[in-house]
Amino acid sequence: MAKERDKMMDPIKRAAADLAKSNYAIALTGAGISTESGIPDFRGPSGIWTKDPEAEKRAYQSYAKFQRNPKEYWEDRLAGPSLLGDLKKMAPNPGHYALAELERMGILKCVITQNIDNLHQKAGSKRVLDYHGNAFKLRCVSCGGRFEDREFDLQRLRNADQLPPLCRGCGGVLKSDVVHFHEPIPADVAQQSLVEAGKCDLMLVCGTSAVVYPFALLPRAAKQRQLGKETILIEINAEPTPLTEEMVSDYLIQGKTGQILPKIAEEVKRITKTS
Ligand SMILES: [Zn+2]
Repeated sequence: MAKERDKMMDPIKRAAADLAKSNYAIALTGAGISTESGIPDFRGPSGIWTKDPEAEKRAYQSYAKFQRNPKEYWEDRLAGPSLLGDLKKMAPNPGHYALAELERMGILKCVITQNIDNLHQKAGSKRVLDYHGNAFKLRCVSCGGRFEDREFDLQRLRNADQLPPLCRGCGGVLKSDVVHFHEPIPADVAQQSLVEAGKCDLMLVCGTSAVVYPFALLPRAAKQRQLGKETILIEINAEPTPLTEEMVSDYLIQGKTGQILPKIAEEVKRITKTS
């Protein structure tokens, strides 16, 4: 009755034991892990769009505008208040650091995040797939190449009437790496994420209700791809989610990722030292 015994265990210890036994663990993360760093969500009571419905309208039009007129798209972005300026001030929280620590220990192989805030990288995670892009990068729409935004002096290009910025590899037009509404997920990231989901034997789903498609496919793909092989799916979230309700996840540890993930990492450290 191993299953019954597992259910009786302290969920933190259970998750740590599962991680220690895993061969290829990965993590999916969403807005919940970043709200603890003070990054506002979009639709919550004090969300960015709840307070500024016009900003939401503009966000929905960004991609069409880029396709129609990249120069105008960049002029608009540079004229408005800078989300990037705000994001630069944000620091990772203990949840981000715990995932980076698990990677250093050789347990966690990859983080796939819906967040565009770069906080996993800041916390020291090396293998990060930015599923919805990264606010600190620009992406070439022709070759898919990515560049750090600090490599470009966008205000200077604007003053010199030289927008949009161009790719240093192929001369193609650059847009923000952030995936806008109605924009497909970049093919490389979508492909690599599916490979990771198919490969993993343990998936931590942290701070996301996984309802936004196609990201929401990843936990489901992880469960289906492993025929004859058990993939353990552990949710860490403030509330139950559709993954909990549809029993896609094996168990939910309910609470703040910034409190739970460090405890799990500590426990993994303890058991991998003594065994
Ligand atoms: Zn290019």
